[in-house]
Amino acid sequence: MTDVILSIRDAVKRYGETHALDRVDLDVAEGEFLTLLGPSGSGKTTLLTAVAGFTQLTAGTVSMRGTDITSLPPEKRGFGMVFQGYALFPTMTVAQNVGFPLKVRGKSKAEIAARVAECLDLVQMGRFADRMPQQLSGGQQQRVALARALSFHPPVLLLDEPLSALDKKLRADLQWELKALHEKLGVTFIYVTHDQEEALSMSDRIVILEGGRIQQEGAPEALYDAPRTDFVANFLGKSNFLDVTVAGHVPGGAACDLAGHPIEIASPAPPPVGAAARVALRPERIALGPEGGEGVPGRIAQVSYLGERAQLIVDTERLGPLLVSRPTWKAAIHPDAGLPVTLRWERDACVFLEAR
Ligand code: ADP
Repeated sequence: MTDVILSIRDAVKRYGETHALDRVDLDVAEGEFLTLLGPSGSGKTTLLTAVAGFTQLTAGTVSMRGTDITSLPPEKRGFGMVFQGYALFPTMTVAQNVGFPLKVRGKSKAEIAARVAECLDLVQMGRFADRMPQQLSGGQQQRVALARALSFHPPVLLLDEPLSALDKKLRADLQWELKALHEKLGVTFIYVTHDQEEALSMSDRIVILEGGRIQQEGAPEALYDAPRTDFVANFLGKSNFLDVTVAGHVPGGAACDLAGHPIEIASPAPPPVGAAARVALRPERIALGPEGGEGVPGRIAQVSYLGERAQLIVDTERLGPLLVSRPTWKAAIHPDAGLPVTLRWERDACVFLEAR
Protein backbone atom coordinates (compact mmCIF):
# COMPACT_ATOMS: atom_id res chain seq x y z
CA MET A 1 0.00 0.00 0.00
CA THR A 2 1.41 3.35 -1.01
CA ASP A 3 1.62 6.18 1.48
CA VAL A 4 -1.11 8.81 1.49
CA ILE A 5 0.13 12.40 1.31
CA LEU A 6 -3.22 14.22 1.25
CA SER A 7 -6.59 13.20 2.65
CA ILE A 8 -9.79 15.04 1.93
CA ARG A 9 -12.67 13.96 4.13
CA ASP A 10 -16.34 14.76 3.68
CA ALA A 11 -15.53 18.06 1.98
CA VAL A 12 -18.51 20.35 1.44
CA LYS A 13 -18.44 23.82 -0.08
CA ARG A 14 -21.66 25.75 -0.45
CA TYR A 15 -22.15 29.09 -2.18
CA GLY A 16 -25.74 29.97 -1.24
CA GLU A 17 -27.81 27.23 -2.86
CA THR A 18 -24.91 25.91 -4.97
CA HIS A 19 -23.07 22.84 -3.75
CA ALA A 20 -19.68 23.42 -5.34
CA LEU A 21 -18.45 20.36 -3.39
CA ASP A 22 -20.80 17.76 -2.02
CA ARG A 23 -19.25 15.32 0.49
CA VAL A 24 -16.04 14.62 -1.35
CA ASP A 25 -13.68 11.94 0.05
CA LEU A 26 -10.33 11.59 -1.63
CA ASP A 27 -6.89 10.22 -0.75
CA VAL A 28 -3.88 11.25 -2.82
CA ALA A 29 -0.85 8.94 -2.83
CA GLU A 30 2.75 10.16 -2.44
CA GLY A 31 4.22 10.83 -5.86
CA GLU A 32 0.96 10.33 -7.70
CA PHE A 33 -0.12 12.25 -10.81
CA LEU A 34 -3.78 12.79 -9.98
CA THR A 35 -6.12 14.59 -12.36
CA LEU A 36 -9.44 16.20 -11.46
CA LEU A 37 -11.56 16.01 -14.60
CA GLY A 38 -15.06 17.30 -15.19
CA PRO A 39 -17.14 19.77 -17.16
CA SER A 40 -17.19 23.47 -16.36
CA GLY A 41 -18.81 24.10 -12.98
CA SER A 42 -18.29 20.54 -11.66
CA GLY A 43 -16.18 21.67 -8.67
CA LYS A 44 -12.63 20.97 -9.89
CA THR A 45 -11.22 24.40 -9.07
CA THR A 46 -13.06 24.54 -5.76
CA LEU A 47 -11.50 21.23 -4.73
CA LEU A 48 -8.02 22.31 -5.85
CA THR A 49 -8.26 25.71 -4.13
CA ALA A 50 -9.53 24.00 -0.97
CA VAL A 51 -6.35 21.89 -1.01
CA ALA A 52 -4.30 25.03 -1.69
CA GLY A 53 -5.97 26.88 1.19
CA PHE A 54 -7.62 29.65 -0.84
CA THR A 55 -11.11 28.22 -0.39
CA GLN A 56 -12.47 27.65 3.11
CA LEU A 57 -14.62 24.51 3.23
CA THR A 58 -18.16 24.77 4.62
CA ALA A 59 -17.53 21.37 6.25
CA GLY A 60 -14.94 18.61 6.09
CA THR A 61 -11.18 18.40 6.45
CA VAL A 62 -7.95 18.39 4.49
CA SER A 63 -4.96 16.58 6.03
CA MET A 64 -1.37 16.39 4.93
CA ARG A 65 0.59 13.31 6.03
CA GLY A 66 -1.82 12.88 8.90
CA THR A 67 -1.84 16.51 10.10
CA ASP A 68 -5.06 18.51 9.80
CA ILE A 69 -4.33 21.57 7.64
CA THR A 70 -7.94 22.65 7.04
CA SER A 71 -7.47 26.08 8.63
CA LEU A 72 -3.86 26.65 7.59
CA PRO A 73 -3.35 29.61 5.20
CA PRO A 74 -1.92 28.87 1.72
CA GLU A 75 1.60 30.16 2.45
CA LYS A 76 1.92 27.82 5.46
CA ARG A 77 1.00 24.76 3.37
CA GLY A 78 4.07 25.08 1.16
CA PHE A 79 2.52 23.72 -2.03
CA GLY A 80 3.73 24.70 -5.48
CA MET A 81 1.06 26.29 -7.65
CA VAL A 82 0.60 26.88 -11.34
CA PHE A 83 -2.76 28.65 -11.50
CA GLN A 84 -4.36 30.71 -14.22
CA GLY A 85 -4.59 33.73 -11.93
CA TYR A 86 -1.03 33.28 -10.77
CA ALA A 87 0.81 35.01 -13.60
CA LEU A 88 4.53 35.79 -13.63
CA PHE A 89 5.53 39.10 -12.04
CA PRO A 90 5.77 41.39 -15.08
CA THR A 91 8.48 43.67 -13.65
CA MET A 92 10.86 40.83 -12.73
CA THR A 93 13.14 38.88 -15.06
CA VAL A 94 12.64 35.16 -15.59
CA ALA A 95 15.41 34.39 -13.07
CA GLN A 96 13.94 36.80 -10.48
CA ASN A 97 10.52 35.22 -10.91
CA VAL A 98 11.86 31.72 -10.33
CA GLY A 99 14.00 32.89 -7.40
CA PHE A 100 11.19 34.82 -5.73
CA PRO A 101 9.80 31.99 -3.57
CA LEU A 102 13.35 31.31 -2.35
CA LYS A 103 13.98 34.99 -1.57
CA VAL A 104 10.79 35.10 0.49
CA ARG A 105 12.09 32.06 2.38
CA GLY A 106 15.32 33.94 3.17
CA LYS A 107 17.71 31.79 1.13
CA SER A 108 21.20 33.11 0.36
CA LYS A 109 22.02 34.72 -2.99
CA ALA A 110 24.33 31.87 -3.97
CA GLU A 111 21.77 29.25 -3.05
CA ILE A 112 19.07 31.09 -5.02
CA ALA A 113 21.28 31.45 -8.11
CA ALA A 114 22.14 27.75 -8.12
CA ARG A 115 18.57 26.59 -7.65
CA VAL A 116 17.20 29.03 -10.26
CA ALA A 117 19.67 27.70 -12.83
CA GLU A 118 18.71 24.13 -11.92
CA CYS A 119 14.97 24.80 -12.24
CA LEU A 120 15.28 26.71 -15.50
CA ASP A 121 17.29 23.82 -16.94
CA LEU A 122 14.59 21.44 -15.80
CA VAL A 123 12.06 23.25 -18.01
CA GLN A 124 14.59 24.00 -20.77
CA MET A 125 14.52 27.75 -20.19
CA GLY A 126 18.13 28.29 -19.09
CA ARG A 127 18.84 30.58 -22.05
CA PHE A 128 16.01 32.93 -21.11
CA ALA A 129 17.05 33.78 -17.54
CA ASP A 130 17.46 37.51 -18.23
CA ARG A 131 14.33 38.03 -20.32
CA MET A 132 11.21 39.78 -19.09
CA PRO A 133 7.97 37.73 -19.07
CA GLN A 134 6.39 39.78 -21.88
CA GLN A 135 9.29 38.81 -24.13
CA LEU A 136 8.26 35.15 -23.91
CA SER A 137 5.63 33.11 -25.75
CA GLY A 138 2.68 31.65 -23.84
CA GLY A 139 4.29 28.21 -23.66
CA GLN A 140 7.58 29.67 -22.41
CA GLN A 141 5.76 31.65 -19.73
CA GLN A 142 4.09 28.47 -18.52
CA ARG A 143 7.48 26.75 -18.34
CA VAL A 144 8.80 29.59 -16.17
CA ALA A 145 5.69 29.44 -13.97
CA LEU A 146 6.39 25.73 -13.53
CA ALA A 147 10.03 26.39 -12.63
CA ARG A 148 8.90 29.03 -10.09
CA ALA A 149 6.41 26.60 -8.54
CA LEU A 150 9.08 23.90 -8.20
CA SER A 151 11.95 26.11 -6.99
CA PHE A 152 11.39 25.57 -3.26
CA HIS A 153 11.01 21.75 -3.48
CA PRO A 154 7.30 21.60 -2.67
CA PRO A 155 5.97 18.16 -1.75
CA VAL A 156 2.83 18.79 -3.82
CA LEU A 157 2.34 20.71 -7.05
CA LEU A 158 -1.15 22.04 -7.79
CA LEU A 159 -1.89 22.82 -11.43
CA ASP A 160 -5.11 24.45 -12.65
CA GLU A 161 -5.55 24.11 -16.43
CA PRO A 162 -1.94 25.23 -17.01
CA LEU A 163 -2.02 24.40 -20.72
CA SER A 164 -5.52 25.53 -21.66
CA ALA A 165 -4.44 28.83 -23.25
CA LEU A 166 -1.93 27.15 -25.58
CA ASP A 167 -2.55 25.87 -29.08
CA LYS A 168 -3.10 22.16 -29.62
CA LYS A 169 0.36 21.21 -30.89
CA LEU A 170 2.23 23.05 -28.14
CA ARG A 171 -0.15 21.65 -25.56
CA ALA A 172 0.64 18.11 -26.71
CA ASP A 173 4.40 18.80 -26.47
CA LEU A 174 4.08 20.23 -22.96
CA GLN A 175 1.94 17.28 -21.89
CA TRP A 176 4.87 14.96 -22.67
CA GLU A 177 7.24 17.30 -20.85
CA LEU A 178 5.06 17.60 -17.76
CA LYS A 179 4.68 13.84 -17.58
CA ALA A 180 8.45 13.36 -17.93
CA LEU A 181 9.06 16.02 -15.28
CA HIS A 182 6.67 14.29 -12.91
CA GLU A 183 8.46 10.99 -13.36
CA LYS A 184 11.85 12.60 -12.86
CA LEU A 185 10.97 14.58 -9.71
CA GLY A 186 8.63 12.20 -7.94
CA VAL A 187 6.60 15.20 -6.64
CA THR A 188 2.86 14.65 -6.15
CA PHE A 189 0.90 16.42 -8.91
CA ILE A 190 -2.75 17.41 -8.63
CA TYR A 191 -3.87 18.58 -12.03
CA VAL A 192 -7.18 20.18 -13.04
CA THR A 193 -8.47 19.94 -16.59
CA HIS A 194 -11.71 19.71 -18.53
CA ASP A 195 -9.83 18.09 -21.43
CA GLN A 196 -10.33 14.33 -21.40
CA GLU A 197 -7.44 13.54 -23.72
CA GLU A 198 -5.10 15.51 -21.51
CA ALA A 199 -6.35 13.59 -18.48
CA LEU A 200 -6.03 10.21 -20.19
CA SER A 201 -2.52 10.85 -21.49
CA MET A 202 -0.87 12.17 -18.33
CA SER A 203 -2.50 10.80 -15.21
CA ASP A 204 -1.79 7.87 -12.94
CA ARG A 205 -5.36 8.29 -11.73
CA ILE A 206 -8.32 10.37 -12.86
CA VAL A 207 -11.10 11.60 -10.57
CA ILE A 208 -14.23 12.50 -12.51
CA LEU A 209 -16.34 15.22 -10.92
CA GLU A 210 -19.87 16.27 -11.76
CA GLY A 211 -22.13 18.49 -9.69
CA GLY A 212 -19.55 18.69 -6.89
CA ARG A 213 -19.45 14.93 -6.46
CA ILE A 214 -16.94 12.27 -7.41
CA GLN A 215 -18.63 10.19 -10.11
CA GLN A 216 -15.86 7.66 -10.54
CA GLU A 217 -12.10 7.40 -10.11
CA GLY A 218 -9.45 5.09 -11.43
CA ALA A 219 -6.51 4.60 -13.76
CA PRO A 220 -7.16 5.99 -17.26
CA GLU A 221 -7.52 2.56 -18.86
CA ALA A 222 -9.79 1.26 -16.13
CA LEU A 223 -12.10 4.27 -16.38
CA TYR A 224 -12.24 4.15 -20.14
CA ASP A 225 -12.86 0.40 -20.26
CA ALA A 226 -15.33 0.21 -17.42
CA PRO A 227 -17.34 3.40 -16.99
CA ARG A 228 -20.04 2.93 -14.36
CA THR A 229 -22.48 5.61 -15.46
CA ASP A 230 -23.82 7.24 -18.64
CA PHE A 231 -22.07 10.41 -17.62
CA VAL A 232 -18.61 8.85 -17.37
CA ALA A 233 -19.13 6.73 -20.51
CA ASN A 234 -19.87 9.87 -22.49
CA PHE A 235 -17.55 12.34 -20.82
CA LEU A 236 -14.43 10.18 -21.11
CA GLY A 237 -14.51 9.28 -24.79
CA LYS A 238 -17.75 8.65 -26.63
CA SER A 239 -20.29 5.88 -26.24
CA ASN A 240 -23.40 4.43 -27.79
CA PHE A 241 -26.08 3.46 -25.29
CA LEU A 242 -28.24 0.38 -25.74
CA ASP A 243 -31.21 -0.78 -23.68
CA VAL A 244 -31.31 -4.52 -23.04
CA THR A 245 -33.25 -6.98 -20.89
CA VAL A 246 -31.29 -9.66 -19.06
CA ALA A 247 -32.72 -13.04 -20.12
CA GLY A 248 -30.34 -15.30 -18.22
CA HIS A 249 -26.86 -15.66 -16.77
CA VAL A 250 -24.13 -17.53 -18.66
CA PRO A 251 -20.50 -18.20 -17.65
CA GLY A 252 -18.73 -14.81 -17.50
CA GLY A 253 -21.75 -12.77 -18.51
CA ALA A 254 -25.41 -12.54 -19.41
CA ALA A 255 -27.67 -13.55 -22.25
CA CYS A 256 -29.72 -10.49 -23.15
CA ASP A 257 -32.47 -9.35 -25.40
CA LEU A 258 -31.58 -6.34 -27.54
CA ALA A 259 -34.56 -4.99 -29.46
CA GLY A 260 -35.97 -8.50 -29.96
CA HIS A 261 -32.61 -10.12 -30.80
CA PRO A 262 -30.45 -12.26 -28.50
CA ILE A 263 -26.98 -10.99 -27.62
CA GLU A 264 -24.42 -12.05 -25.05
CA ILE A 265 -22.67 -9.47 -22.90
CA ALA A 266 -19.55 -10.29 -20.89
CA SER A 267 -19.61 -9.05 -17.30
CA PRO A 268 -18.09 -10.18 -14.00
CA ALA A 269 -21.33 -9.18 -12.22
CA PRO A 270 -24.28 -8.89 -14.59
CA PRO A 271 -27.60 -7.41 -13.40
CA PRO A 272 -30.25 -9.87 -12.15
CA VAL A 273 -32.28 -11.94 -14.60
CA GLY A 274 -35.32 -10.00 -15.80
CA ALA A 275 -33.70 -6.60 -15.20
CA ALA A 276 -33.86 -3.86 -17.77
CA ALA A 277 -30.30 -2.57 -18.15
CA ARG A 278 -28.39 0.01 -20.09
CA VAL A 279 -25.06 -0.78 -21.70
CA ALA A 280 -22.37 1.43 -23.19
CA LEU A 281 -20.74 0.43 -26.45
CA ARG A 282 -17.62 2.30 -27.58
CA PRO A 283 -17.69 3.41 -31.25
CA GLU A 284 -14.31 1.80 -31.99
CA ARG A 285 -15.51 -1.58 -30.76
CA ILE A 286 -18.07 -1.86 -33.55
CA ALA A 287 -16.83 -3.64 -36.65
CA LEU A 288 -18.22 -2.55 -39.98
CA GLY A 289 -18.78 -5.28 -42.57
CA PRO A 290 -20.45 -5.54 -45.96
CA GLU A 291 -24.21 -5.91 -46.14
CA GLY A 292 -25.65 -9.30 -45.17
CA GLY A 293 -24.91 -12.03 -42.65
CA GLU A 294 -25.28 -11.95 -38.90
CA GLY A 295 -25.26 -8.63 -37.11
CA VAL A 296 -27.18 -5.39 -37.10
CA PRO A 297 -28.03 -4.11 -40.58
CA GLY A 298 -27.68 -0.39 -41.20
CA ARG A 299 -26.86 2.29 -43.68
CA ILE A 300 -24.05 4.83 -43.40
CA ALA A 301 -25.66 8.23 -42.86
CA GLN A 302 -22.62 10.47 -42.30
CA VAL A 303 -18.87 10.21 -42.55
CA SER A 304 -16.47 12.50 -40.76
CA TYR A 305 -12.85 12.03 -41.80
CA LEU A 306 -10.40 12.82 -38.98
CA GLY A 307 -7.06 11.76 -40.45
CA GLU A 308 -6.03 8.60 -38.67
CA ARG A 309 -9.66 7.73 -37.93
CA ALA A 310 -13.03 8.18 -39.51
CA GLN A 311 -16.21 8.62 -37.50
CA LEU A 312 -19.43 7.40 -39.02
CA ILE A 313 -23.04 7.63 -38.11
CA VAL A 314 -24.79 4.46 -39.15
CA ASP A 315 -28.60 4.46 -39.16
CA THR A 316 -30.10 1.18 -38.01
CA GLU A 317 -33.74 0.28 -37.90
CA ARG A 318 -33.28 -1.81 -34.78
CA LEU A 319 -31.22 0.51 -32.60
CA GLY A 320 -31.44 3.96 -34.16
CA PRO A 321 -28.30 5.84 -35.18
CA LEU A 322 -24.98 4.38 -33.92
CA LEU A 323 -21.61 6.08 -33.82
CA VAL A 324 -18.81 3.98 -35.31
CA SER A 325 -15.14 4.90 -35.28
CA ARG A 326 -12.52 3.11 -37.36
CA PRO A 327 -8.94 3.47 -38.52
CA THR A 328 -8.66 4.83 -42.06
CA TRP A 329 -5.45 2.96 -42.95
CA LYS A 330 -6.19 -0.05 -45.16
CA ALA A 331 -9.86 -0.08 -44.25
CA ALA A 332 -11.58 -3.05 -45.87
CA ILE A 333 -14.64 -1.00 -46.79
CA HIS A 334 -14.47 2.52 -48.09
CA PRO A 335 -17.21 4.12 -46.05
CA ASP A 336 -19.48 6.32 -48.12
CA ALA A 337 -22.76 7.86 -47.07
CA GLY A 338 -25.64 5.72 -48.31
CA LEU A 339 -23.70 2.42 -48.23
CA PRO A 340 -25.61 -0.51 -46.65
CA VAL A 341 -23.46 -2.28 -44.01
CA THR A 342 -23.64 -4.78 -41.16
CA LEU A 343 -22.46 -3.92 -37.65
CA ARG A 344 -20.98 -6.51 -35.32
CA TRP A 345 -19.24 -6.49 -31.98
CA GLU A 346 -17.78 -9.02 -29.57
CA ARG A 347 -19.41 -10.15 -26.36
CA ASP A 348 -16.95 -8.14 -24.25
CA ALA A 349 -17.48 -4.90 -26.21
CA CYS A 350 -20.47 -3.76 -24.13
CA VAL A 351 -20.34 -2.59 -20.50
CA PHE A 352 -23.33 -2.68 -18.15
CA LEU A 353 -24.03 0.71 -16.57
CA GLU A 354 -25.46 1.30 -13.11
CA ALA A 355 -29.22 1.78 -12.95
CA ARG A 356 -30.07 5.44 -12.46
P1 ADP B 1 -14.95 24.00 -12.24
O1 ADP B 1 -13.58 24.33 -11.78
O2 ADP B 1 -15.19 22.53 -12.38
O3 ADP B 1 -15.35 24.74 -13.48
P2 ADP B 1 -15.79 25.45 -9.88
O4 ADP B 1 -15.15 24.73 -8.76
O5 ADP B 1 -15.15 26.70 -10.36
O6 ADP B 1 -15.99 24.45 -11.12
O7 ADP B 1 -17.29 25.80 -9.51
C1 ADP B 1 -18.21 24.86 -8.97
C2 ADP B 1 -19.54 25.54 -8.72
O8 ADP B 1 -19.43 26.51 -7.69
C3 ADP B 1 -20.10 26.29 -9.92
O9 ADP B 1 -21.50 26.13 -9.94
C4 ADP B 1 -19.71 27.71 -9.65
O10 ADP B 1 -20.61 28.60 -10.29
C5 ADP B 1 -19.79 27.79 -8.15
N1 ADP B 1 -18.81 28.77 -7.60
C6 ADP B 1 -17.48 28.67 -7.64
N2 ADP B 1 -16.89 29.72 -7.02
C7 ADP B 1 -17.90 30.51 -6.59
C8 ADP B 1 -17.96 31.75 -5.86
N3 ADP B 1 -16.84 32.38 -5.46
N4 ADP B 1 -19.17 32.25 -5.59
C9 ADP B 1 -20.29 31.62 -5.97
N5 ADP B 1 -20.32 30.45 -6.64
C10 ADP B 1 -19.14 29.90 -6.95
